[in-house]
Amino acid sequence: TLHERLPRLTEHLEQWIIESKKQCQHGKVASYIPELAKGNAKALGIHFIDAHGNETSAGDTDTVFTLQSISKVFTLLLALMDNGEELVFNKVGMEPTGDSFNSMLKLELVQPGIPFNPLINAGAIAISSLIHGSSQSDKLERVLRFFRMLTGNENLQYNETVFESELQSADLNRSMAYFLKDNGVLEQSVDDVLDIYFHHCSIDATCKDLARMGLTLANNGYDPIQQKQLIPKRYVQIAKSFMVTCGMYNASGQFAIQVGLPAKSGVSGGILTLIPGTIGIGVIGPALNSKGNSIAGVNLLEKLSQHYDLSMF
Ligand code: GLU
Repeated sequence: TLHERLPRLTEHLEQWIIESKKQCQHGKVASYIPELAKGNAKALGIHFIDAHGNETSAGDTDTVFTLQSISKVFTLLLALMDNGEELVFNKVGMEPTGDSFNSMLKLELVQPGIPFNPLINAGAIAISSLIHGSSQSDKLERVLRFFRMLTGNENLQYNETVFESELQSADLNRSMAYFLKDNGVLEQSVDDVLDIYFHHCSIDATCKDLARMGLTLANNGYDPIQQKQLIPKRYVQIAKSFMVTCGMYNASGQFAIQVGLPAKSGVSGGILTLIPGTIGIGVIGPALNSKGNSIAGVNLLEKLSQHYDLSMF
């Protein structure tokens, strides 16, 4: 359980949150999507949940934020469940880029213009096009339902204000989508695919929701709270491999060395991570470092991992 694996966690967290919060002043809230600039640069919160439903949290855990890139892990899982491995890996590769999340640099390298992996923007846009549904609104509903099922939170919603803001500042993502479309990687209209992509990036959540989703990944797709296999184990294995190699943008190598857990961050400052087999963890800290990861959040996870010797390597 949480208390056995991480003894005296609550006491430590109190101190660590104070220390890690000092990092916030060295970071910046993302501003290329205007709505994200409204995030609280001083906030830092963390939530833990184990298979028995024991929970611990500390800091600013009420902070609501949009999933942004964290959603990409789960749309990948839904696309795998809808299409199988073979089809999905005709559209995206399996390798990290070492470039920033919105880079176009390597898009031409793998023929016919296939994105390197499903967690960079170009790859996630390709994945959004693979989600099944009888209509556009049916696809959007299926995506939201999938996130509600995984969080156990029926109140989860698309944040239409953030969605609109992303749509208004989408020139780079739009140009990547047109490139993919021209290469036959996208088969539907660019507008429809981006509508799905920006919507799943714009789902409002808290770090408790992240922890809950992390718990199911930690248990290879089995949700110990609902006592149901929600995702096939093989697909969760794939998703966690991507989290290790590409989940923290082009700082994934550094994160693997300093924290050593599968994780995925988003530009709104969330980090979803997990202790394999046992605990789901959600973090929010909107101030980002130069690679786009929560500056205080990464610092807090380093302390946690080092203190409890959590690295899986
Ligand atoms: N919606 C964001 C974008 O497309 C997601 C980026 C991220 O969180 O890394 O730019």
